[in-house]
Amino acid sequence: MKIIQSIDEMQEFSQRARGEGKTIAFVPTMGYLHEGHASLMREGRNRADILVASIFVNPTQFGKGEDFETYPRDMERDSKIAAEAGVDVIFTPTAAEMYPAGYQTYVNVEGLSLPLCGASRPGHFRGVTTVVTKLFNIVRPHTSLFGRKDFQQLAVIRRMTADLNLGVEIVGMPIVREPDGLAMSSRNAYLSSEERQQALCLYKAMRQIAWLYRHGERSAKILRKVAVAEINAKPSAAVDYVELRNSVTLEEVTAADDATLLALAVKIGKTRLIDNCILGEESQDGA
Ligand code: AMP
Repeated sequence: MKIIQSIDEMQEFSQRARGEGKTIAFVPTMGYLHEGHASLMREGRNRADILVASIFVNPTQFGKGEDFETYPRDMERDSKIAAEAGVDVIFTPTAAEMYPAGYQTYVNVEGLSLPLCGASRPGHFRGVTTVVTKLFNIVRPHTSLFGRKDFQQLAVIRRMTADLNLGVEIVGMPIVREPDGLAMSSRNAYLSSEERQQALCLYKAMRQIAWLYRHGERSAKILRKVAVAEINAKPSAAVDYVELRNSVTLEEVTAADDATLLALAVKIGKTRLIDNCILGEESQDGA
């Protein structure tokens, strides 16, 4: 496995590979890798001749007062996990090279970036779409894999890739969970053991709503209320949002159906966690 830091070197590597007729799969990450990232990498390994993963904690997608400085980093451990998952190249650029002095170009997806995490974290998706566009231009992948854990991010990136004719196949991958149901996340490392217990309320609230839905409840208002009550019962938990939305347009729904997205963002102490499921997808609700 190669580790490449320079943008020029990464571009040359990809150009050469493409020149030799090889296909490239790409998994962008912010590092502190876990099994969720590894599942994307293994799928990428199966889909192309060359597998590139990026590790870059992207400053432009963090808001003021968010955790950019404290975001967990461990290159040594990440290298091991990536190598085991079959990664050929880790691309790990510096922020100084990605955003040099004078930088002033951003990519923005309009409607899909506005609700949910876009409303709670203004500018977040602008940072994501900008860095993913730059990474696509540097790595030049044929295929890129993203987790459904970040459901809205996946929708925004699909839209951007289609709208800007980027020519990259976008693959969405299932959410990987801990044995007790907590969605894996690099930010889980922030949780104290007490908070780790309470963090389960996201999954429990989702299961409860999925159960009610399966037993005939369709009112988004009622379903939402049940989830908020479940979460608010935990002393360390504070709801950021609990919403039922159309899984394609991300518009709010009043009556849930099989394609409805249930999306949650909850602060457990200082740690903001997200999770989601599609109500009609049994395998995702854990029941
Ligand atoms: P991150 O490093 O958090 O930016 O995530 C990099 C990629 O891994 C994104 O496409 C995420 O959606 C995906 N990912 C993160 N956590 C999980 C998970 N638990 N299951 C599946 N994919 C995940």
